[in-house]
Amino acid sequence: MALSTRIRIAIVSFASLFYFKKRSKVIFYHDIHSDKKYTEMSTPIEVFKNHIQIILENGYEIVSEITKPIGQIEICFDDAFLGLFENIELIKKLKIPIQLFVISSYLNKKNHINKEQLIELNYNSLLIISSHTKSHKILNDISVDEIRAELKDSKSELEELLGCEVSAICFPEGKFNHRVVQIANSLDYKKQYSSLPGFYYNEVCPSVKRRSLVQFANKTEFESILKGGDHLLSFWYKYKHYKK
Ligand SMILES: [Zn+2]
Repeated sequence: MALSTRIRIAIVSFASLFYFKKRSKVIFYHDIHSDKKYTEMSTPIEVFKNHIQIILENGYEIVSEITKPIGQIEICFDDAFLGLFENIELIKKLKIPIQLFVISSYLNKKNHINKEQLIELNYNSLLIISSHTKSHKILNDISVDEIRAELKDSKSELEELLGCEVSAICFPEGKFNHRVVQIANSLDYKKQYSSLPGFYYNEVCPSVKRRSLVQFANKTEFESILKGGDHLLSFWYKYKHYKK
């Protein structure tokens, strides 16, 4: 394990000692795999199952939408890689709601879920399909017109394909700025997900939610993140992700 990872786990574990309430939060992954892996960011299925077990053993409820400050967990997957589709029976068996953030122009791209598969997933009430922009451009590096196109086109393409409203977005690489938020609000994205870690009811700004990346977390790190130990790293992430 890399030294930086060890230091991070040590900080998160230490900080988690100061949180006693089970405050609600969003966790996210990129994919899951049993044998074939479609991205280096994929989580082995056994690790994912262990995470779910830890969540339930600690008395949290896994929900499609957090409505209470305490005791609820939302689970997201970014980028719509094929592993989630191939392992969907596990999700059904566990009965856990998942919010899937889809890059609309990546449907049919190698290693990604295609349009027919996304329609099939959308029939399953456990899955909520949301936007991850049209082409995964880093939103705080592009012009206002480009931001608008990335957000607007992905929303309309997904809504047309699925025949339902798409009202949430997550920012590619978690990066955003005040212009991105303004445009997302004007396009009626009611919820915008960042990658700034922390608690659900501690919004970065109105409509911008925090999420904790847990894809490679071992038991100790996962339990600490669940308790909110990564909230301490929020300042560092804000420095890296939020540009004025
Ligand atoms: Zn992404």
